[in-house]
Amino acid sequence: MRKPIIAGNWKMNKTISETLELIEALKAPKFDEGVEVVLAVPFTSLSEAKKALEGTGIKLAAQNMHWEEQGAFTGEISPLMLKEIGVDYCIIGHSERRQYFNESDERVNKKVKSALKHKIRPIVCVGETLEEREGGQAEKIVKEQVLKALEGIDKGDIEEIVIAYEPIWAIGTGKTASSDDANNMCRLIREVIGNKYDDTTKEKIRIQYGGSVKPSNIKELMEKEEIDGALVGGASLVAEDFIKIVNY
Ligand code: PEP
Repeated sequence: MRKPIIAGNWKMNKTISETLELIEALKAPKFDEGVEVVLAVPFTSLSEAKKALEGTGIKLAAQNMHWEEQGAFTGEISPLMLKEIGVDYCIIGHSERRQYFNESDERVNKKVKSALKHKIRPIVCVGETLEEREGGQAEKIVKEQVLKALEGIDKGDIEEIVIAYEPIWAIGTGKTASSDDANNMCRLIREVIGNKYDDTTKEKIRIQYGGSVKPSNIKELMEKEEIDGALVGGASLVAEDFIKIVNY
C-alpha cells in the first residue's frame, strides 16, 4: 500500500516571519494521518521551519540543491547543508528550474544520486510543454525524463524517490489535466519503472500529480488508481486551501 503524499511547493514566496505565520495556521487543524504532508519552503526559511514543525509530523523539503557537497559554486546550497538542517525531501528538476535555470536531465540525475547518497528523498518533477502535448510527444518526453533522472539508480533506492508528473501547461495557469489524462501518464511512468526494474519496484514508487491542484479537484485526482498524491503550488500558500487539499 502506497501512502499518499501531498507536498506544498511555496516557490519563491514567504519571508521567515511569513513562513512561521503560515506554519502556525497549518498546525491548528488536524491533518488526516493517512496522508504524508510535506512543505517545500524557501532556503532561507528551512531552519526556522524545521523548529516550527517539530512534533507535527509534517515533513520538510528544500526546493533545489547542488549535487556537490561543497566547493566554489557561488549561490548554491549543498546536500550537507540541507542534511544538517534536517530536511527530509528535496524537489529536483521542477519545470521552473528546467525552464529558467537551464536544469538539464543530466543535472537532475546528478542531484537525484546525491540526494539519495545523503538520505534526502528526492521529489523528481517531469512533464511536457503544451507544444509537446499538442504535437503528440507528451509520453515520449515524460518517458525520457524519467529514464534519464533514474539513470544509474539502484532498484533498492526507488522506494525513496517520489515522481511528480507536472504538465508544464497546467502549472500556475488554472488549467488542470483531466483526472484521466493525469492517471494515464502516471500509469505510463509506473510502466517505465516496471520495465527498467521489475513489477515489485513499480508498485512501490509514489507518483504525484501537480498542476493547478485545488480543493475543488483534489478528490477526483486522488480517486485515480495511479495517482498517489499531489505537488501543490499556488494553493499551498493559502492555509485554508492546503488543509482542504490534504484532508480531501
Ligand atoms: C508547482 O509549483 O509544482 C505547481 C504545480 O504549481 P501550481 O499548483 O500553482 O500549478
